[in-house]
Amino acid sequence: TGKFFVGGNWKCNGTKDSISKLVSDLNSAKLEPDVDVVVAPPFVYIDQVKSSLIDRIEVSAQNSWVGKGGAFTGEISVEQLKDLGVKWVILGHSERRHVIGENDEFIGKKAAYALSEGLGVIACIGELLQEREAGKTFDVVFQQMKAFADSVPSWDNIVIAYEPVWAIGTGKVATPQQAQEVHVAVRDWLKKNVSAEVASKTRIIYGGSVNGSNCAELAKQEDIDGFLVGGASLKGPEFAVIVNSVT
Ligand code: 13P
Repeated sequence: TGKFFVGGNWKCNGTKDSISKLVSDLNSAKLEPDVDVVVAPPFVYIDQVKSSLIDRIEVSAQNSWVGKGGAFTGEISVEQLKDLGVKWVILGHSERRHVIGENDEFIGKKAAYALSEGLGVIACIGELLQEREAGKTFDVVFQQMKAFADSVPSWDNIVIAYEPVWAIGTGKVATPQQAQEVHVAVRDWLKKNVSAEVASKTRIIYGGSVNGSNCAELAKQEDIDGFLVGGASLKGPEFAVIVNSVT
């Protein structure tokens, strides 16, 4: 299912100094060649990262505006991201869905716009703990998938990140079996609702408390094609271990 893909989502963390240290650790890390590696700094540090990070590692944004720039106070446009050399954008992250209140439709529109402008999209899906406990995991992730499918023109440039909300920043990683079960269901959904080709080509990566110690078992699962890493991506050597867990 395509190249292993590992993204580091730095979220709202870092200073010029700490990011300079992280970049230099990443620049000197030994990374397996056959892995796509992407980091997503906060907007304000993207330029610093782009000018200091080796080209081997691509840069992603953590969000983007839904259309062309203009009178949208506080927003950052896709065109501006491209101007800085950004190649990817994370959309639909659970923190934007559940803390900031973005809905499926808005996220779908953002994905369509970013793709139409040539950015790759890391499209996030995932259920809350109460949804899992109520047996609604598949309903929730299929609904989120449908919102993307309804608006995107093509799946060529999309990586799906399954991030169960209860696993994000909690230290409670999904078991390899729990993750694999959802990944295979999402792939099956793509097969039924988009096409067999898209289902087999689209990378589905896992996020939620991934670290240097649990990545290897997860990476062995057939339908886990990489990771989206939060906390552990702020440590260069540990992030490298996760990148190198490719099987
Ligand atoms: P943690 O790895 O800190 O749990 O965060 C995961 C995540 O939300 C990545 O986007």
